[in-house]
Amino acid sequence: MDLYEYQAKELFAKHGVAVVPGKVCFTPEEAQAVASDIGTTVVVKAQVKTGGRGKAGGVKLADNASDAKDRAQDILGLDIKGHIVHKVLVAEAADIAEEYYVSFLLDRTNRTFLAMASVEGGVEIEEVAVNNPDALAMIRVDALEGCTLEKATEIADAAKFPAEVREQVIEMLQSLWKVLVEEDATLVEVNPLAKITDGRVLALDGKVSLDDNAQYRHESHLALIDNAQTDPIELRAKEFDLNYVKLQGEVGIIGNGAGLVMSTLDVVAYAGEEFGGVKPANFLDIGGGASAQVMANGLDIVLGDPEVKAVFVNVFGGITACDAVANGIVQAVGMLAERGEPITKPIVCRIDGNNAVEGRRILDESGIALIERVETMDDAARRVAQLAAGK
Ligand code: GDP
Ligand code: MN
Repeated sequence: MDLYEYQAKELFAKHGVAVVPGKVCFTPEEAQAVASDIGTTVVVKAQVKTGGRGKAGGVKLADNASDAKDRAQDILGLDIKGHIVHKVLVAEAADIAEEYYVSFLLDRTNRTFLAMASVEGGVEIEEVAVNNPDALAMIRVDALEGCTLEKATEIADAAKFPAEVREQVIEMLQSLWKVLVEEDATLVEVNPLAKITDGRVLALDGKVSLDDNAQYRHESHLALIDNAQTDPIELRAKEFDLNYVKLQGEVGIIGNGAGLVMSTLDVVAYAGEEFGGVKPANFLDIGGGASAQVMANGLDIVLGDPEVKAVFVNVFGGITACDAVANGIVQAVGMLAERGEPITKPIVCRIDGNNAVEGRRILDESGIALIERVETMDDAARRVAQLAAGK
């Protein structure tokens, strides 16, 4: 889960990372009141889970409270890279002297953590990496040793932080590492890390991605979830405890086992090229068991996606044999009809593996007109792509 800047800064403050105090606001009037309490020049910042807000007009300074109200009015409702602004952060404006960059992230490729730091911050760090790679220090951080004083010093010196901020940056790095470890984050990024004119070094922006697999260790993180930003179908899938990811396509996918579902996405995308670029609409792994109930929940979720034109159920029978899965599919269709939501979209089924012959017979004799059984995975992918394309 990615956090908003104001949430990231709350975690920063909790672990001793220096931030500017501020408050999240939902209306221009609230922004005015907060600015009035602060009493100095403030910065009004769009809270959306994407970068480049500054360039998009989502970060504005305001000299007084009524100005802050106007700026909030401008920013609320803005569309920043497809994210509509519903809230703004109002904080004391910092008088910036220099802008730096620091981050810690999980480096999956090298199976370690990575610290990145640069004295050329503020701008998009990808640009620095391309145009001036020497200005971006990248230092591995061992997960068990962590960011010790020595490691933090190594990072700060590799990035050539000037002497007057070196000590502060070293301390900041250690605190940010604490955020990463203690909050179970996979990314902690500060851009800009700013030296302000009074000499202090502050985190003026914050990006934190939490590891959802560690959610169970953090009761307090539940309060950070913003359901308004989550896809409603993904939310429902979560309630059903299903492994579902929404994608931008027309073919609903249901399979058992993550590997099988991944390869199903590939064959459908490949087959879809022939039909004007039809693509998979989702990833959905119903797991090994695949009972009628789970299948019904899966179909319910996938068919509930208005983008879906046809569904591909791709099952390989293992411990749960194909006849049980086939019965599950038939019963699931019945359950949906009983609920008053009869299926209206074609479902292409490919089942193979343990007891496939019996499973196929059950589907063939089910008498459900919208179920079409196809022998092989490739042929089924082609057929479902064709159906989704309306051909
Ligand atoms: P981003 O564009 O989404 O990364 O948003 P940032 O929070 O990084 O803000 C973009 C830029 O706005 C920063 O690089 C700063 O130059 C500027 N900015 C942000 N906060 C302040 C502030 O408190 N005072 C001043 N003067 N500028 C700020
Ligand atoms: Mn930034």
